[in-house]
Amino acid sequence: MLDSIKKMFSGNEEEVRVAGSKADISREKSAILFEKAKKYFPGGVNSPVRAFKSVYGTPLFIEKGNGCFLWDADGNQFIDFCCSWGPLILGHNHPKIREAVISTLQHGLSFGAPTALENELAELILKNNKYIQKLRFVSSGTEAVMSAIRLARGYTKRDKIIKFEGCYHGHSDSLLVKAGSGLVTFGETSSLGVPKAFADETVVIGLNDKEALERAFAEFKEEIAAVIIEGIPANNGLLMQNKEYIEFLRKITSDHGSLLIFDEVITGFRLGFEGAAAYYDVHPDIITYGKIIGGGMPVGAYGSSEEIMGYISPDGGVYQAGTLSGNPVAMAAGIAQLSELNKPGFYKELNKKAAEFSASIQRYASAKNYKVRVFNVGSIFWIAFTDKDNIQAASDIEAESMDKYKVMHRELLNRGVYLGPSGYEVGFVSAAHSKIELEKAKRAIFESLDVVFK
Ligand SMILES: *Cc1c(COP(=O)(O)O)cnc(C)c1O
Repeated sequence: MLDSIKKMFSGNEEEVRVAGSKADISREKSAILFEKAKKYFPGGVNSPVRAFKSVYGTPLFIEKGNGCFLWDADGNQFIDFCCSWGPLILGHNHPKIREAVISTLQHGLSFGAPTALENELAELILKNNKYIQKLRFVSSGTEAVMSAIRLARGYTKRDKIIKFEGCYHGHSDSLLVKAGSGLVTFGETSSLGVPKAFADETVVIGLNDKEALERAFAEFKEEIAAVIIEGIPANNGLLMQNKEYIEFLRKITSDHGSLLIFDEVITGFRLGFEGAAAYYDVHPDIITYGKIIGGGMPVGAYGSSEEIMGYISPDGGVYQAGTLSGNPVAMAAGIAQLSELNKPGFYKELNKKAAEFSASIQRYASAKNYKVRVFNVGSIFWIAFTDKDNIQAASDIEAESMDKYKVMHRELLNRGVYLGPSGYEVGFVSAAHSKIELEKAKRAIFESLDVVFK
């Protein structure tokens, strides 16, 4: 093994090992691939979180996935709770999706012209979702949200948007903005390269804070095009919001002629077929989708009423387009996946499994007096190192707790369980996680928590 590589994943100076800590799995091949990747890509990756900056070691290079399992380049097998960050609600390599993709691609990969498959996926979605009447397919969640913001601005003829600290909406300029200082704040850009002028149009406030929102509306009244919130914020921990607060968002936006946008890129088709809108029984004006909608292929969508969608080109004056939008292979994958999700009882069974899994981790941690809370909604779970029973805003999360996550993450990898490489990331239970694998994963989590709290 190259010395430099060896050092990279075994020579982490700050790393403290205690009794019970398990020896590292071999990551030699992944480490060699990573060294090579660093020559080609910034940080060796094509999306930053993959670089394992917040956990020990170097990223695992994945060779294949099947069901709830992942295998890396060194042949290590893992029970996967990252599930490609959410899209794989049926697990890896689901036969129905695989077959739909293969049979579709026999006829060509892309035409840049309409296909019946787009109608089919749209019909499947719209017939089973009372919150939107028309939609437009795009190729990622970022694109869906960016387009939804433009639509809201075009429809209301207003420029400002309000977003919440702790919600992620992809990497478009208007949304790479974080809270500045002061009570009602213009945001500050959270990335180099975002013009300050964009941040000036984005007001950022804390979640679960009615007064802050009232102040923002008092200050900017007729300037606010939309309030955007994640269906249930799940990109910065799992920040459960009260139904009453979401109803308040609905009311205050309506009262001021602003639109309410639910970014359901994670929660859409996850909490249920109709996502967070149905979970709260609140009807937003625009909803964005991504992740699950494409069955593992790059698909996003935004939808709204017929009236609002009438503003999108070529019907209306809000321009939005895409060379590969509605790509037939991606549509086929989406149809195959959503057809499974639409079967009776699908969500009931999946959510029950995830609830039991989360509850038993919580029981174990509580019995041992570990400072751990397992938050769960639908098939999303988040293991937080805290003793707070409610975490509803980004500011409720203790940054130091992430050191504990780092240790747990390492111990879990060494025990064959793959969680997202950051303590701010939630986990996903898929339909492919069987009782047996969930039992094995639980045992690995219990042992890892024992190491964390040694
Ligand atoms: C993942 C995500 C996005 C961005 O989607 P990409 O496909 O990564 O561009 C936007 N909003 C939310 C809520 C997300 O979880």
